[in-house]
Amino acid sequence: MKSHRFSITSVIAIFIVGLIIVAARSEGAGKRVQARAERKPSTEAAQASSAITLSAPVKVAPKATSSASAFSAFAAAITRNTELQNNLGWAFGGKSQRGWALYTPLIANLVGCDSDVAGELAMRVSAWQQGNGIESTGVLDGDTWSRMVTTFQSQRMKGQPAASEDQLVTIPVSDCYDPSRPEELRKADRDSFAAYKRMVAAAATDKSLGLALTADGQLTSGEKYFKIVSAFRSREYQDQLRRQSPNSGRAGLAVNSPHNTGRAFDLYVGGEPVSTKDENRALQTRTAAYRWLVKNAARFGFRPYFYEPWHWEYAGVGNDAETRRVGYAVR
Ligand SMILES: [Zn+2]
Repeated sequence: MKSHRFSITSVIAIFIVGLIIVAARSEGAGKRVQARAERKPSTEAAQASSAITLSAPVKVAPKATSSASAFSAFAAAITRNTELQNNLGWAFGGKSQRGWALYTPLIANLVGCDSDVAGELAMRVSAWQQGNGIESTGVLDGDTWSRMVTTFQSQRMKGQPAASEDQLVTIPVSDCYDPSRPEELRKADRDSFAAYKRMVAAAATDKSLGLALTADGQLTSGEKYFKIVSAFRSREYQDQLRRQSPNSGRAGLAVNSPHNTGRAFDLYVGGEPVSTKDENRALQTRTAAYRWLVKNAARFGFRPYFYEPWHWEYAGVGNDAETRRVGYAVR
């Protein structure tokens, strides 16, 4: 009798999950159409199909499957998240910020969500909250967002020594976003640059990105995605940039920039290469190139800086336990 009851509970639970997915898909449909209009035609099909892929079984927090009231609880979370993604007030780098919509690809990756469907996101956020000792509501509110930002920031390189001359290599013009960039500004840490080349070679084989390639599989000179905008910057050069942009604020040009390690790369991911304007970052975080980096860069040892879609730091590979703990699963 007990097992019979258990199987009825299971059937009800599966039915509820089904309802959530159906509701989530119709919820996300309007958003997808809007986002698709701004994508490159060559990547549209791949993007559209990935948006509704639910390849992994949906894991729902136990609380969510325990009663019929769970569905209304998640429906409420979806509605609340739709508001908060554009309205949540928070501060970063001395600037007030609004919403977390810009960070949806990073959030989805962090919580192990394969799609940008609001329903699945709420469910995965709920599981992530549970794993992090936060009340498991599925609502990405201020407390949860603050915890996520802390997690993203804990990935940044800190206190690394500046690169010495013998660690640096010269980046070929063909790997640069601006082919006229002078040689003294085309330097990078040797190991980081080798990892970058491996990463771009992998991106080049991904046909869904629609990258323009030469006969031997390199990015053409006209292809700008994934090209290096900036890598090593000496302390002196960084100071000079800061003098040119005195109002960039703490979220802008750092005093102790990770770029002086030679292991930080600004890569072209669309729009204005390195503008923190919200509308520019919104455009960048919708590109196939950026979304590919979010999903794949960790395999090559690169970690994101959540606030700047173009900025990636080479942390190396090999510390898989740490990589998995914070959600940058090696896939
Ligand atoms: Zn940077």
